[in-house]
Amino acid sequence: MPKFRERNISRTLTVKEVEYLKTIFRLSSGRKAVGSLEVAEAMGVSCATASEALKRLYDKGMLERTPWRGVNLSEAGIREVDRVIRNHRVFETYVYRFLSINLEEACDCARRIELYLPKEVVDSMCNIMGHPEKCPHNECIPRGEGCCLKRQQ
Ligand SMILES: [Zn+2]
Ligand SMILES: [Zn+2]
Repeated sequence: MPKFRERNISRTLTVKEVEYLKTIFRLSSGRKAVGSLEVAEAMGVSCATASEALKRLYDKGMLERTPWRGVNLSEAGIREVDRVIRNHRVFETYVYRFLSINLEEACDCARRIELYLPKEVVDSMCNIMGHPEKCPHNECIPRGEGCCLKRQQ
């Protein structure tokens, strides 16, 4: 069941919207809420544009709102960011390791397709590489449900 929900979510979000989620994720580390002005500044858009995007993401269940303080990621929002980060890092690690493509290019390519990679493909890449914990940038690769996690049990 969670698998199905995960796929559903990814189909309903645009590249821009996921960009917002990642920004909120970054801004909110260790904090309860992020103000829309802050999000607007980080995204380089006007406050009105940011507010509209935040409202859309709230309507899609990706955000939680705290009155007078701002927004934070909902559980579904966190799951989506996690999925996209995992896709990015598994893909770039694979491309870098096996296809002799330099890291900068691998990262750039990953950024363009990170939203659309099917779970089966990412898990398969992860499996072939022996479930690496870090990408070549030395960032942690989120564990995959039924992939790295299943293995540890
Ligand atoms: Zn990267
Ligand atoms: Zn894995």
